[in-house]
Amino acid sequence: MFRTHTCGELRIGNAGQAVTLAGWVQRNREMGGLTFIDLRDRYGITQLVFNMEINSDLCRDARELGREFVIRVRGKVAERFNKNPKIPTGEIEILVEELIVLNPSKIPPFTIEDHTDGGEELRMKYRYLDLRRNENRKNLFLRHQMAIETRNYLNFKDFIEIETPYLIKSTPEGARDFVVPSRMNEGQFYALPQSPQTFKQLLMIAGYDRYYQIVRCFRDEDLRADRQPEFTQIDCEMAFVTRDDVLNTFEGLAKHLFISVLNVEVSDFPRMPYQEAMKLYGSDKPDIRFGMTLHELNHLLQNKGFKIFDDAGLVVGIKAEGCGDYSRKQLEELTDFVKRPQVGATGLAYIKYTTDGAIKSSVDKFYTPENLKLVLDEMGAKPADLILILAGNTDKIRSAMGDLRLEMGKRLDLINPVEFKPLWVIDFPLLEWDEETRRFYAKHHPFTSPKPEDISLLETDPDAVRANAYDLVINGTEIGGGSIRIHNKELQQKMFRVLGFTEEEATNQFGFLMNAFEYGAPPHGGIAFGFDRWVTLFGGGDSIRDFIAFPKNNAGRDVMIDSPSVISEEQLKELGISPSTK
Ligand code: ASP
Repeated sequence: MFRTHTCGELRIGNAGQAVTLAGWVQRNREMGGLTFIDLRDRYGITQLVFNMEINSDLCRDARELGREFVIRVRGKVAERFNKNPKIPTGEIEILVEELIVLNPSKIPPFTIEDHTDGGEELRMKYRYLDLRRNENRKNLFLRHQMAIETRNYLNFKDFIEIETPYLIKSTPEGARDFVVPSRMNEGQFYALPQSPQTFKQLLMIAGYDRYYQIVRCFRDEDLRADRQPEFTQIDCEMAFVTRDDVLNTFEGLAKHLFISVLNVEVSDFPRMPYQEAMKLYGSDKPDIRFGMTLHELNHLLQNKGFKIFDDAGLVVGIKAEGCGDYSRKQLEELTDFVKRPQVGATGLAYIKYTTDGAIKSSVDKFYTPENLKLVLDEMGAKPADLILILAGNTDKIRSAMGDLRLEMGKRLDLINPVEFKPLWVIDFPLLEWDEETRRFYAKHHPFTSPKPEDISLLETDPDAVRANAYDLVINGTEIGGGSIRIHNKELQQKMFRVLGFTEEEATNQFGFLMNAFEYGAPPHGGIAFGFDRWVTLFGGGDSIRDFIAFPKNNAGRDVMIDSPSVISEEQLKELGISPSTK
């Protein structure tokens, strides 16, 4: 027998018992005639003791054990003289009678400790060692627990988990496809799914009216901290539902996860139209843990002779309370912030309402003190408050102000890191115009239904059409998104036309779905959640990589298995692909 107990299990009540444990050597230290070893497995750490006076051979063997050796010991549980209240097994130790080395270990390239000395690259290369660390173990356990609770909730609600294929055909969801050459169909390729979107719709047509799947999706995009080329979705679809049925069902899922995993009770999620989110927060994923909403100032600051404001589509301000005495240096820092290319404003104007009631502004050449006072009054500013103002192209400036708002929220410590404020953002625009290619793209995906009252605008005023689409946003992070779908062939064809598909292209790519719509497609809708992101949010992490067992690095590489890699000429030949001439 390898073990009678795990390394996290024994307590004072076990004192006197004979036990066998197996695990990894975490630490090995000598104190006088005693040798202490911390033995680790995924359940915890148990202290082993070897006594020179009782068994000198055994004690000498123990002193030879290096870090990460795998051993098995047999011995007796004893109450510890020096108790360690920090660990659950801290009241006992094992007086070892037999030691067997199951496998020695090379000296690991970094310490397997909470504060390891290993850099990211090294830890990724030896990910199996990195995964022995507490933090990673906790993260993967959290992930496992969230998957279980997701399944518990959805199973209870009559959803069934159905697997959909990974080798499919390209679906345009806004990213590039990963493709897989087919050996049996030379010159042809499968695509890996960006999501199971069309399959889950086909399942609705097939009558499985509540589907889910915790499923891997693949998108060949440039990577960022919260993106991976393969990532996991909780993918869901329901038939015979309205938008509100979908929102209520999945608000229930979110609340269930909050309570069962974090023991946090959250109140009902507000539902905010996209337009309102953009106007008030400058973002379609607003962090509503703090206020400081955007205030439009066109009516107060335009037509007073200041050309920059006069030419702007939008003049917008936020009020930073208690910042009315900001120094020039502090204001310059904020100006530098808004001028960063990621933020994209050209300058920052301000009105300082100082503690002693003076009004100082970067634009006082153009405005009378009365003009400026009107702005302060309308924004409810008090002495010691600061108004920050941006002006320019409406969409650009809104989002720049959204960034500045978040920055000020951070600087002023207005964001409570342990609070959760979820909301639904609803009524997204159906389409997005792309200046470069001069065509419309589906903001969500081409299967999203317009709001019924907006369908008539589809061909006359496409910009104005709202989608029956929604996102779940928690603390400024988009956790999921979905929509009520089109389930009628004519409307789907019309949608493809608006998106610039020829009849032939639409039929080639999506004929299977449109044909299926002709065989009794029920009204349906659904949602998908970014599982990695959700786990990361619950775990309080910054990067989804820390919550994925074997993630890829910034260049999309797995540095442990060294992939992607070249394949042999024979393999290429077999696939009918000519070797690169590079
Ligand atoms: N398939 C969509 C996505 O991956 C989600 C959905 O509409 O259900 O974003």
